[in-house]
Amino acid sequence: MNRHYLINFCLFIFLVKMSTACSIDSLPNIYQLKVLNQPTEMTGSIKVSELNKMVDVKKIIPDIKLELVYTTSDNFMHTILYPPTKTTFLRLPAALALKKVQDALKKENYSLKIWDAYRPYSVTLKMWDLIHDDRYVANPAKGSGHNRGIAVDLTIVSLKDGKELNMGTDFDNFTDSAHQNYSQLSDEVLSNRKLLRDLMIENGFSIFPTEWWHYYYSEGQFDILDFTFDDLHKIERSQKRNDH
Ligand SMILES: [Zn+2]
Repeated sequence: MNRHYLINFCLFIFLVKMSTACSIDSLPNIYQLKVLNQPTEMTGSIKVSELNKMVDVKKIIPDIKLELVYTTSDNFMHTILYPPTKTTFLRLPAALALKKVQDALKKENYSLKIWDAYRPYSVTLKMWDLIHDDRYVANPAKGSGHNRGIAVDLTIVSLKDGKELNMGTDFDNFTDSAHQNYSQLSDEVLSNRKLLRDLMIENGFSIFPTEWWHYYYSEGQFDILDFTFDDLHKIERSQKRNDH
């Protein structure tokens, strides 16, 4: 009798351990951050709130310009970090807010141009391995707004000639002259930066003090994500099927 009880007890413990080990939930990463990387976690979070949706930016803002610098080696790390893609992603409210900025700029014959938006967490880890300096890349111990789908690196281009407005420095310039409060710049540069800043702030974005091109949507809390762009396309398609 006692032996049977012991065998049953051991079997019970074994099954409990197995079910925990087989759980599909993401395990905390080495920094103890919660990082979503399972499609079921993403669809679960969308069920909780539609605002968690990651949307194809080109579908929300078809005429936005993209020059996704991390899909080529023409970036400050001289490394390809993303596979080729024709679009990028943002959380639904950030994309809708950005559309308002684009609509306002179009009236002035301008357009936004995005250099980077959503960035999978594993890319942040890779950047950190390459650079390991939080003056230049996001520290993966915290995760970044890009990992959450709410940050965007962007500038303004003229629709007359497609050229970028003069913002005083290039993208990923890590000198003081890229800071938002740096004032030793021409009137033209200061007014171009102000045009971008005023429209972004008016539509719910916040500035990043050391990078004139980086803005993040400041309303709401969003999880860090580690999905490829392909994963996000698949999740978006499965959502659409479920909506019908
Ligand atoms: Zn950025």
